[in-house]
Amino acid sequence: MAEHTQGVYPVSVKESFADERTKPFWTAAVEGRLIAPRCDGCGTVVLPPKPYCFECLGQSFTWVDLPGTGTVYTFTVVRHPLHPGLQDVVPYVSGVIELDGTQGAGARLMGNIVDCDPDAVRIGDRVEVELEPVSDDYAVLRFKHLG
Ligand SMILES: [Zn+2]
Repeated sequence: MAEHTQGVYPVSVKESFADERTKPFWTAAVEGRLIAPRCDGCGTVVLPPKPYCFECLGQSFTWVDLPGTGTVYTFTVVRHPLHPGLQDVVPYVSGVIELDGTQGAGARLMGNIVDCDPDAVRIGDRVEVELEPVSDDYAVLRFKHLG
């Protein structure tokens, strides 16, 4: 994607800075897959990865593929460029997405919602993850607005 596209927050980080616990997420993201750790004890998806399940305190997890779709849980439209480099980018939408396949607690991720009219985005709208690799170990995560 171009460096400065209206509505698309530019890539500002090129490395994942992953540790042992988060590396599987970024490895899959570079491959275009959205995965998450699911507790072997109770099935809760714990994202971001943590040493303990917040439901049952289990310490054993299995990484599972998620469908990559989700629902807008909340969002904001950024209209003021907080940095001169964002002059051509505003307005853009930043949202918290409740991910499909994470029933129960409902794991959420934050990201730029793209391919939308910022004034048309609503809580409950459907989105689909887009993963853009920017290096060998990092991919930018955005959500395409499906309406
Ligand atoms: Zn659990």
